[in-house]
Amino acid sequence: MIGQELGSALLISLLNSLIDCLFIYAYCIEQAKLHFREETLLPNLGCPSNIKKTKADKLDPERPSERGEFPEGELKEKLHLSRERNRELVRQAKLLGRDQDGRLKCACCYFDFFATYGEVGKDFIEAHHTKPVSTLLENGEETKIEDLALVCSNCHSMLHRKRPWLEMDELSKLIC
Ligand SMILES: [Zn+2]
Ligand SMILES: [Zn+2]
Repeated sequence: MIGQELGSALLISLLNSLIDCLFIYAYCIEQAKLHFREETLLPNLGCPSNIKKTKADKLDPERPSERGEFPEGELKEKLHLSRERNRELVRQAKLLGRDQDGRLKCACCYFDFFATYGEVGKDFIEAHHTKPVSTLLENGEETKIEDLALVCSNCHSMLHRKRPWLEMDELSKLIC
């Protein structure tokens, strides 16, 4: 009886080890496939090696990036938007931009994310850089809080819709 139990325990242990081995084997195959894609397929697709490490390409390594092919105007817009992503500056702009009730509203249309979406919209607003990128120094420039306008996502998109970008007061006049 004891011998039977020992035999069963041994069998279960062997099966578990076999399952572990199969998992490890499958994992190794997947890693090898990924490695092959990164090292062999991406360079053949003409994807620059400095781009393949970015998150998007990691998610889908077989897709060649087209980021090198944006027209110049698009690149300028990215530069503008990335300047707006200075978190501390935006945080301070938000602190100063609250109305007397402590709410953040769009400077163009007065949209209030909290009023419309409730808790999920609380404290949400986007920051728009009001200085046209053409006026900024070539090597970058310190951005002041007053250079940022707090706007809703719709107004922000409309401000950037056409070049030259609309001024804040121009957009405000367009809102019916
Ligand atoms: Zn708005
Ligand atoms: Zn903007």
